[in-house]
Amino acid sequence: MKRMEKSTTVVRNLDSKPEGLARVEWRMFVNKETAQERMNVCWACPNLNSVRVCRKCWCLMPVKTKLAAMSCPLGYWTAESNYVHTE
Ligand code: SF4
Repeated sequence: MKRMEKSTTVVRNLDSKPEGLARVEWRMFVNKETAQERMNVCWACPNLNSVRVCRKCWCLMPVKTKLAAMSCPLGYWTAESNYVHTE
């Protein structure tokens, strides 16, 4: 019984954000502006083929440019963290 009470206290404490700690959320996608900026770089790149696949990584770029953790294999645009501070 004591163990159960302890667990409940821990869960209750996690509901409220401790003072001084930032709230971090995980996200899969970048915002629309960043995805468009990345895609604009790819449009200008000679490695993008006619079906919008990169000849260096063989990814479908309209999809890859939306994913935060992805980056250009030649370093023309970089990855963003999947974790963002919300407060
Ligand atoms: S990911 Fe990089 S190498 Fe591939 S098409 Fe885009 S800019 Fe070019």
